[in-house]
Amino acid sequence: MKLYAINTGHFKLDGGAMFGVVPKSVWNKLNPADENNMCSWAMRCLLIEDNNRLMLIDCGIGNKQDEKFFSFYYLHGNDTLDKSLALHGFHRNDITDIFLTHLHFDHCGGAIELDKTSGKFLPAFPNAVYWSNEDHWKAAVEPNAREKASFLKENILPIQESGQLKFIEKEGQWNDQMFIYYSYGHTDAMMIPRIKYKEQEVIFMADLSPSYHHLKIPYVMGYDTRPLNAMEEKRKVLQYAAENRSILFFEHDPLIECTIPILTEKGVIGGERMKLSDLL
Ligand SMILES: [Zn+2]
Repeated sequence: MKLYAINTGHFKLDGGAMFGVVPKSVWNKLNPADENNMCSWAMRCLLIEDNNRLMLIDCGIGNKQDEKFFSFYYLHGNDTLDKSLALHGFHRNDITDIFLTHLHFDHCGGAIELDKTSGKFLPAFPNAVYWSNEDHWKAAVEPNAREKASFLKENILPIQESGQLKFIEKEGQWNDQMFIYYSYGHTDAMMIPRIKYKEQEVIFMADLSPSYHHLKIPYVMGYDTRPLNAMEEKRKVLQYAAENRSILFFEHDPLIECTIPILTEKGVIGGERMKLSDLL
């Protein structure tokens, strides 16, 4: 098995919304805001090459929305999904599985593209099965008012219409290499995969801890629907990771890809800041 960090580009989100109750005087030192209070965030996916399968976990924001939509998110940097796949000798048509932690637009926008000739929204990975789960799917297609702006129909419904959607049945061991946690603090049934790699494990943190600095338990996003649950879920995963020396992989951290958390008297904290390629 081989694992690769796949950078799909950076975007910006309001720093206050990203750090919840943490004051700006504190978070601004960790991820400095621009003049509009916006901070830069990565959309970093994980590619798993295993025998004849090639699975991508999440797929970035994509490029099909209009100018007005993108004017809110300030895409920047030189990375794109296609360029990052090509760096490792892959093409999007090689992908056999798209694992969607959840269906917020910055995680699944790249799943669907606009076909300019037909004007239709079509799967951007023609040969892939797309994995979600029933609970989360329901929450995404009938969204509550708070999350509605994050669940965009054009990112979601075409997956089902294409016949490429499959549901993971339950939390727990999914296959030989992957264990999946269901998490309900950020949104309903977000899936956090734990991937066995040689003697170690990599945990894809998605929005359970979008960045290294969000490892601190009270650092939960203003976007989270159930912040107290999010804190408890994060605490459990960090405890597990510290005890097992698991590698935490950050999807949104603008700079830091990974760490192995450390157990201290004050609880679990982030360890050395590392690149996935240094660890494996
Ligand atoms: Zn999210």
